[in-house]
Amino acid sequence: MNCIFCAIAGKEIPSDIVFEDESVIAFRDISPAAPVHVLIIPKEHIASVREISGTNSGIIAHIYEIAVQLAKELGIFDKGFRMVTNCGEDGGQTVGHLHFHLLGGRSLKWPPG
Ligand code: 5GP
Ligand code: ZN
Repeated sequence: MNCIFCAIAGKEIPSDIVFEDESVIAFRDISPAAPVHVLIIPKEHIASVREISGTNSGIIAHIYEIAVQLAKELGIFDKGFRMVTNCGEDGGQTVGHLHFHLLGGRSLKWPPG
């Protein structure tokens, strides 16, 4: 499968990894939209949050646990941060492998464009 995030998870493409365990990898976004911009992904190829069901939803809880840990480590826990997953065309998803953006380090606007 030709998936850039599978290639990052498999270390075929280098990335600035900030966390890794057996099921998840987190790395800095190549085009950061905030002072802290990390992508947290399951190592397993899941196309988007649309593919989440009772059989694989445990990974979402695990990813959020890691996000909180990373927010502390990266210094954005106290002032706050944003976790977001874009899904599909209207959601603005550009990479077809489930990923959560962890953003912080500046005051983020709402609503998004
Ligand atoms: P999406 O638009 O799908 O929600 O987010 C995809 C994100 O992946 C974008 O923020 C983009 O900058 C990031 N991205 C795309 N290709 C690469 C890459 O090769 N390496 C890294 N570190 N980030 C990437
Ligand atoms: Zn993939």
